[in-house]
Amino acid sequence: MRYLSTRQGADTNGASFVDTILTGLAPDGGLYVPATVPDVRTCLGRWQHLSYTELAAEIMALYISDMTPEEIHDLIARSYAGFDHPLTAPVVPLGDVHILELFHGPTLAFKDYALQFLGRAFEYALARRGGQLNVLAATSGDTGAAAIAGVRARPGIRIFVMHPKGGISSLQQLQMTTILDDNVHNLAIKGTFDDCQEIMKSVFNDLEFKRQYSLGAVNSVNWARVLAQIVYYFYAYFQVCRVEKLGRQVRFSVPTGNFGNIFAGYLAARMGLPIACLILATNANDVLARFFCSGDYVRGRVQPTLAPAMDVQAPSNFERYLYYRYAGDSAALKRFLERWQTSGRARIPPGEGGVDPLFAASAATETEILETIEGAWKEHQYLLDPHTATGVAAARKTPSQTPTICLATAHPAKFPGALGSAVDSASASHKSLASLVDLPQRQTIMPAEREHVMAYLRLHISARGGTPVGKFGPS
Ligand SMILES: *Cc1c(COP(=O)(O)O)cnc(C)c1O
Repeated sequence: MRYLSTRQGADTNGASFVDTILTGLAPDGGLYVPATVPDVRTCLGRWQHLSYTELAAEIMALYISDMTPEEIHDLIARSYAGFDHPLTAPVVPLGDVHILELFHGPTLAFKDYALQFLGRAFEYALARRGGQLNVLAATSGDTGAAAIAGVRARPGIRIFVMHPKGGISSLQQLQMTTILDDNVHNLAIKGTFDDCQEIMKSVFNDLEFKRQYSLGAVNSVNWARVLAQIVYYFYAYFQVCRVEKLGRQVRFSVPTGNFGNIFAGYLAARMGLPIACLILATNANDVLARFFCSGDYVRGRVQPTLAPAMDVQAPSNFERYLYYRYAGDSAALKRFLERWQTSGRARIPPGEGGVDPLFAASAATETEILETIEGAWKEHQYLLDPHTATGVAAARKTPSQTPTICLATAHPAKFPGALGSAVDSASASHKSLASLVDLPQRQTIMPAEREHVMAYLRLHISARGGTPVGKFGPS
């Protein structure tokens, strides 16, 4: 499989899988997409009884042609070995919906499913190609912790994670800042998550700097993230639709911020998984919910909510969707993005396909989030985290006979302050979090300016040809 940029710049030969993971953003500033999307409808029967690891190996091998099937299988097996549930991604019933629990990895959020894999894939790529990698990341909370867990102490890799100072939960912060490995750097940025993301993009767009300091990305712009996330849509489908029902359609409801998770579901649908509807759930930051209801893409101001990992108004992965929406017409895509950049609004008029029938969308208010959590707790003694609650609320707003699978994107114990008064807070605990509170922390506070971030990187990375990784001191 080769990968093309959504903006189809100079790189017309396409990139290999290993290229895409090491470079993150394509050289022309676009995002990598696979040159073709494999049709797997004839594989579903064979795949339905596979373990998570076996299924992941089958699916990922379709997209990775520069590693052997044994290498892929080995990386995947090691990636998920530490997860704390025998099914890795179990589906449990919750009244009229199914919950796909994606919080069984080391940092208790769905991002572990991709980042445990990506960390090991980086290590593999560096072993093969040599050199070092300096990961620069922006996080609204969960990516940073999961990325740090994926790369800490891995040889040849350093990680620099920007988070909005005061904009993430205290447990999310502790999950990052208590990791004291020499190769881990936490930058608390005085700004919003979108500011962090803008700085990251702008640093990556400085191609000379990126090359000189061997920068790489773990944000969902990195193709490997999307790829690893495709797996659990299939795995969940097989848990809900047993043998005789294969071919039956399901709906997925996906709490959405940067559009990475739901985009993996979109690709699963394009691969032939029988998905009747992708329900895009947002919190009050509803830029995407409005787009999928009206075709208008209008930037709003970021509002802090009970579901902070979704406080996003400039969703970076949306460009991948636009690429398919414009049927690979990069010129049209670029016009759309330019209008959005300059005026904060762009639209796909009804004449150009209007609203995509595969998607439904809805935004949850803070009250709806709390009511959904309290309702699930009272009726089923099941605790939803506030992000997952947006998805359950969205599914309930568009009732259907079609089985509905709601993605549970985080463990409730990560957001104890947001669960509402009706919920017994002792139930919202997890042993891996309780132990963090008294640990020493390390982070560096800085203004939301790219020059400050670049200066920090210069200070802590030896430019290409300088001293090898491992010789730098703590920050
Ligand atoms: C990151 C995150 C989301 C949003 O996922 P995207 O892929 O950015 O759309 C939702 N919920 C939780 C708990 C998250 O950590």
